[in-house]
Amino acid sequence: MKILVINAGSSSLKYQLYDMTDESVLAKGLVERIGMDSSILTHKPTGKEEVTEVSDILEHTTAMRKVLEKLVDKTHGVLNSIDEIDAVGHRVVHGGEAFKSSALITGEVKSEIRRLFDLAPLHNPPSMMGISAAEANLPNVPHTVVFDTAFHQTMPEKAYLYAIPKVLYKKHKVRRYGFHGTSHAYVSKTAAEFLQRPIEDLKIITCHIGNGASLTAVKDGISVDTSMGMTPLEGLIMGTRSGDLDPAIVPYVMNKEELTMNEVNSMLNKHSGLLAISGSSSDMRDITDGWEAGKPNETLAFEMYEYRLRKYIGAYAAAMNGVDVIVFTAGVGENSAIVREAVCQNLTYLGVEIDKELNKVRSGDPRRISTPNSKVEVLVVPTNEELMIARDTLRIVQESKG
Ligand code: ADP
Repeated sequence: MKILVINAGSSSLKYQLYDMTDESVLAKGLVERIGMDSSILTHKPTGKEEVTEVSDILEHTTAMRKVLEKLVDKTHGVLNSIDEIDAVGHRVVHGGEAFKSSALITGEVKSEIRRLFDLAPLHNPPSMMGISAAEANLPNVPHTVVFDTAFHQTMPEKAYLYAIPKVLYKKHKVRRYGFHGTSHAYVSKTAAEFLQRPIEDLKIITCHIGNGASLTAVKDGISVDTSMGMTPLEGLIMGTRSGDLDPAIVPYVMNKEELTMNEVNSMLNKHSGLLAISGSSSDMRDITDGWEAGKPNETLAFEMYEYRLRKYIGAYAAAMNGVDVIVFTAGVGENSAIVREAVCQNLTYLGVEIDKELNKVRSGDPRRISTPNSKVEVLVVPTNEELMIARDTLRIVQESKG
C-alpha cells in the first residue's frame, strides 16, 4: 500500500510518500510561500535528483496538484499514475478531547476539527486547508487524521486540569492537552523496541527538544503527563517561546506596556525563549557556540535552558516514582551532544551515567549513550512523525475495510 503523508501549514505543504510494504520513502518534499510571490516546490524523489521549481501558487489545492504532478512526472516521478496512492494521512495539531486516537476523515470529523479552531487558531485552520486540498485532488481514496494531542489523552485528571475555576474547563475546555504526541509515541515505542523490553514495564521520559520543545512521562506505554499545556507555550524554554512563567506577569505587563492580547501572545510565543535571553538567536547551535566562546548572554540562555529541562526530568521521575529510560529526540535532542551532556551530568542522583564518547557519535539510528553501569538507559532516538502517521493511516484503512 502506498500512503501519502501531508503536513500543511498556513503557507506551506510538506509531503512524504511511503511504500508500506517495507516502510520505504519513495519521495518527499515541500511547497513553501503558498499565497505569496515565487512559491517554491522542492521535490526529493528517492534515488533520483532533487528538483526545485519556482512559480506563483496561490492556495493549497494548486500546491497539492503540483505535488501530484511531480510524483507522476516522467523524469522526477516515482509513480506511473496517482491511482497508485491508496490513502492519505494528515497531520492535525489539535484534536481537543474529541479525538483520543487517529481517525478516518468523515464529514463529522471535519466539523469537529473546525469546532477546534478556537483552541488552535494558528494550527488547525491550515490543516483543514491541507485536508480540503488533498481531498479535492484525491477524492477516491480514504483520508485519515493523526493528531498531535491524541497520545496525551490518557493523562489523568490530576495532570491535565489546571487549579482554576472548573467552570472554565466545562465551558471553554481550558485544560492541558499537550503536543508533539505523535513524536512522543513514536520515540517511546522505538526505545522499548531498541531495548527489547515490553513498553508496559517501562517508565520513560521522552524529551522532544527542537524549536518547540516538550517532555512527556510515558508509563506503561501511555502518556501520564506532558509539559506543554492548553497551547504549546507552557513548559520548557524553547527557541522563541518562554515556557513556564508566573501567569500574573501577563496582565501586569499588558498593563505596564499597554499591550493587546495579540501583542502579548506574540511576545511570549515569538520573541521570548532562547532568542530573548541571548538577544541574538533562537537556534541552539548559535547558543552553544556562544557558550563555548564565553559570551555572557548565550551562556545565560544555555544555562537557563538546561536548568529548566533538568527540573522537568526530575519532576517526571517524581511523577512516575522512578525512571528507566530517558530519550532525547528532535533537532536539539538528536544533534546537540553538548545539551545532552550538560543535562545528564546533573542527573547523577537518579543514577544516570553517560558515556561521553558514545554521546558524541552521530547517527540516524536509535542509539544508547549511557554506560553499562547507568541505572537509567539514556537513548537518542531520531523522531519520525511522518512514518507514525503512515503507520496509523495503514492501520485505520485496514480496520475500516474489516
Ligand atoms: P521544529 O520544532 O521546528 O520541528 P526541529 O526539531 O527540526 O524543529 O529542531 C530545529 C532546531 O534544532 C534548530 O532550531 C536548532 O536549534 C536545533 N539544532 C539542529 N541541529 C543542531 C545541532 N547540531 N546542535 C544544536 N542544535 C541543533
